[in-house]
Amino acid sequence: MHRLLAAGFALAVATPALAQEDSPPPPIIDVHVHSQLESRPGTAPLCPNPQQFLASDPADGEEGFFGWSGEDCSPRLYAAEPGEYLNDVVAEMERLNVTAVVFGDPDSVRAYQQAAPDRVIAGTSFAMSPDTDRAAELQRLEMLFTDGGFAVMGEIGLQYAGVSPSDPSVDDYFALAERLDIPVAIHMGTGGSGRANVTMPTYRASMGDPFLLEEMLARHPRLRVQVMHAGYPMIDNMLALLQANSHVYVDTAGLIWSYPIEEVNRYIERLVDAGFGDRVMFGTDQLSWPGLMAYSVSIIQNADYLSPAQKRDILYNNAARFLRLDRE
Ligand SMILES: [Zn+2]
Repeated sequence: MHRLLAAGFALAVATPALAQEDSPPPPIIDVHVHSQLESRPGTAPLCPNPQQFLASDPADGEEGFFGWSGEDCSPRLYAAEPGEYLNDVVAEMERLNVTAVVFGDPDSVRAYQQAAPDRVIAGTSFAMSPDTDRAAELQRLEMLFTDGGFAVMGEIGLQYAGVSPSDPSVDDYFALAERLDIPVAIHMGTGGSGRANVTMPTYRASMGDPFLLEEMLARHPRLRVQVMHAGYPMIDNMLALLQANSHVYVDTAGLIWSYPIEEVNRYIERLVDAGFGDRVMFGTDQLSWPGLMAYSVSIIQNADYLSPAQKRDILYNNAARFLRLDRE
């Protein structure tokens, strides 16, 4: 037998004795999952970590929603069959031993809690339409965060509306979260997907600048903040904000599978090398493709620039501290 094959054989024999059926893999916390109930019909298979945004010309007629180059890959990630998305995601959470913070409207989040009672931390946010009754919205959220079992305010998508998190029009929500001691999760950085001016006319890249959190943090010094998508790609301002504010954490969601892999690794490595290895939390931005969570976990597990202890911090320990699961 070839030496490598022999080694492989020895491993294969040794594995069943090590991995008892009743010993699950080490636990993971995914701090960024959406409460989607179905893959949208017609969702194309996904090739994660595309290598390029393509230029386009308005003279060429209708433009696609995304500007990513259409690279092929193997294996591709497929959308779920009709009626199967929630089951598939929960099966992946069981297999990978994941507890997830699931964000969305309260009813769909509760569907996740019903499907996986011990694995879901509930998150929801405020409505942002111009005719929102702010007093009623604050009252609704206070109910959800005190009696309703909800534990995180998010995903707060102000950047898509072109609004700064320090804008006075949303300050009451952050004041509420600080008073109730509920962490907030704010979308910062990624987005636009190459066609913002065409498909998302109120999105502003500039509203994802981590420095825009500064005034709000000064007004609410006890608030715990999860900067979703780690303010990608504004690494310098992100590091400066982390230095200045020790209640601020970041998550890896979305960016971990939707930008070129060398760039993703460089960004996470930079956060850790700058001394913030205890503030980076694993997140997927799980939606549409059930295989996305396992794929995203593998990016951390295969990161040769991280030590085993740093990987455990990112995959579990940091989120457990941020969410205070380690105090229960
Ligand atoms: Zn987001």
